[in-house]
Amino acid sequence: MDIDEFRSHAHQMVDWMADYLSGIEKRPVRAQTAPGEIASALPATAPQAGEPMQQIMADFQRDILPGVTHWQHPSFFAYFPANSSPPSVLAEMLTATIGAQCMLWQTSPAATEMETRVLDWLRRMIGLDEGFTGVIQDSASGAILCALLTAREKATGFDSNENGLSGGPELVAYCSSETHTSTEKGAKIAGYGRRNVRKIPVDETFAIVPEALEAAVLEDKAAGRVPACVVASLGATGVGAIDDIRAVGDICRRHGIFFHVDAAWAGSALILPEYRWMLEGQETIDSLVFNPHKWLLTNFDCAAHYVRDPEALIRTFAIDATYLQSRETGQVIDYRDWGVPLGRRFRALKLWFVLRSYGVEGLQAFLRGHIALAETLEARIAAEPDFELVAPRVLSLLNFRYAPSGPDEEAVDGLNERLLNALNDSGEAYVTPNRVHGRYAIRIAIGQARTEARHIEAAWELIRKTARSL
Ligand code: PLP
Repeated sequence: MDIDEFRSHAHQMVDWMADYLSGIEKRPVRAQTAPGEIASALPATAPQAGEPMQQIMADFQRDILPGVTHWQHPSFFAYFPANSSPPSVLAEMLTATIGAQCMLWQTSPAATEMETRVLDWLRRMIGLDEGFTGVIQDSASGAILCALLTAREKATGFDSNENGLSGGPELVAYCSSETHTSTEKGAKIAGYGRRNVRKIPVDETFAIVPEALEAAVLEDKAAGRVPACVVASLGATGVGAIDDIRAVGDICRRHGIFFHVDAAWAGSALILPEYRWMLEGQETIDSLVFNPHKWLLTNFDCAAHYVRDPEALIRTFAIDATYLQSRETGQVIDYRDWGVPLGRRFRALKLWFVLRSYGVEGLQAFLRGHIALAETLEARIAAEPDFELVAPRVLSLLNFRYAPSGPDEEAVDGLNERLLNALNDSGEAYVTPNRVHGRYAIRIAIGQARTEARHIEAAWELIRKTARSL
């Protein structure tokens, strides 16, 4: 494809993108295809000769698009949002066009220097103190792995990097029964072993019980194990559990344990002064992650990872090779040593576009709008005698179930599972299953950039109608 053809296709593509976004409500939210259906439309081997772009685009629309779940649909209420925005998409077009691989300062000084600057903007926006330094990771899971590895190295005096883990004491990681699975996954990768992940019980607000955490730490110490890392949550996945940072952090301080905070979703709400209380006790935190790619209008992937001691992170990951050196080595930031991958995309650009395009106030208005919509839905659910909220609303996250009087708990679980499948099969809304206190629940997370009151009303109408027809 020569540059003139590229220009012409790109113009057509942008028209398609605008049409897609403006017409997205006509599409089913969740793909309605059966397993294998899309694969069967794809030939077993790559074409020998190149094909025209018109043909590729036509096949994309006919064969591929039906198998796409539309995360930017305003009735997408599943998981957590991976919301995006036009400024972010435009920046991604630039990033893809430039195609820079930003592992070193020298391989694109603008990418490094912008990353440092916009993460500092974001740090101020969420009210983290200036002792924190930011870096963009691919995911919250990646940042949690970084935390577990840094904790491992600190706990072993940086010996496990040199000599491996065998022969040393067992390292222990702590989280709560509500913590996202990325902590367990990270602990498996980082060599703690799954059996050395302690899932501490939670209280009636789903927050970790500090006394239970400290008791577990003391028990491990007494048995000769080394408590290395605690992961607390601000907005855990299931019901949005918010741990008491100060209470957990004080325990970490007392026992010399690395303290990571997973704020993957709810961290965006820290740009709202009325939710800053969640960071109370932040002086005890060693690292924190939140994902602008969840709820801050920035395309996936973009995880903002803040560390108090960048040297410890760098020492954990640093490698050297002559081909990675440059004249500036040591005088500039080379983000290659701040995480697992060597290669890095120019991710800061989309964040810069988003922050400049909306401004702090624009982003705050978005989030407040979503929280207000969730409050409305919460009131609707509470007003219906045959529905119940099974956990308190957290920000824009709700868990509820259909609970008509009569059937036993097992039958109610089955009823709600059928309700959820009917909703998702309708293509009119997309929600996620959950278990709360052992019972099946339907989980709704509001956070799509185009979601308005009418979408919430329509979803609620659909839920009530479907439930009562079961
Ligand atoms: N932490 C929480 C609370 C999450 O909800 C999620 C994912 O939804 C993660 C971590 C993992 O996020 P990522 O996909 O960025 O690894």
